[in-house]
Amino acid sequence: MIKENIKKILEELPAGVQLVAAAKTRTVAEIVEAIQAGLTIIGHNYVQEAERAFEAIGPKAKWHMIGHLQSNKAKKAVRIFDMIETVDSLKLAKTIDKACRNINKSMPVLIEINSGEESQKAGVIPSDAVSLIKEISGLENVRITGLMTMGPFSGDPEDARPYFKKTRELFKDIEQTNLSGIEMRYLSMGMSNSYRIALEEGANLVRIGTRIFGERDYS
Ligand SMILES: *Cc1c(COP(=O)(O)O)cnc(C)c1O
Repeated sequence: MIKENIKKILEELPAGVQLVAAAKTRTVAEIVEAIQAGLTIIGHNYVQEAERAFEAIGPKAKWHMIGHLQSNKAKKAVRIFDMIETVDSLKLAKTIDKACRNINKSMPVLIEINSGEESQKAGVIPSDAVSLIKEISGLENVRITGLMTMGPFSGDPEDARPYFKKTRELFKDIEQTNLSGIEMRYLSMGMSNSYRIALEEGANLVRIGTRIFGERDYS
């Protein structure tokens, strides 16, 4: 089933759009099957879970951190991940920068935007994004390469459209400021129920779990 699901999604994605498999709770065998079906990027929410999968699978795919990164996990995270999609504070960026400097790595990061301005959610609110990006752009071992957003949860994917639109506009605004040391290349938006809307609104990285692997079982 995983193979067919991946094939279908990959056929549907326009040129230039990359698929991230959101692999939380999935087994190594499931992830390997996805890679064999042509998947190239694995997304994980927790460092410990990613570490287990990474030890078994290694660099056969690219690894993206898509969950909130705790500072005390940064050292491990920078060894595993090829991109951290969820940077939302200068403090976290500095922690990643320092951990990368120690292993001579330059880490591409996305700035996570709290596009719904929800108080409980991670991400920087849109109006604070530019000043945060300016601060982070001075760090040597962290490279800003775009934006990521979740948007408020809703059963109806159409409800996500205004938040994707807002993030896309912010992306364009930042691109036009021509800040040195950043490269606005990736716009990570959309999950299983909303990726079609996200693509219409300009996403070029989509993070999909359920539609690849089936419903999650947390039991
Ligand atoms: C789980 C997750 C996804 C994918 O969710 P699905 O609804 O299973 O496609 C995407 N992004 C993030 C950050 C996630 O945690």
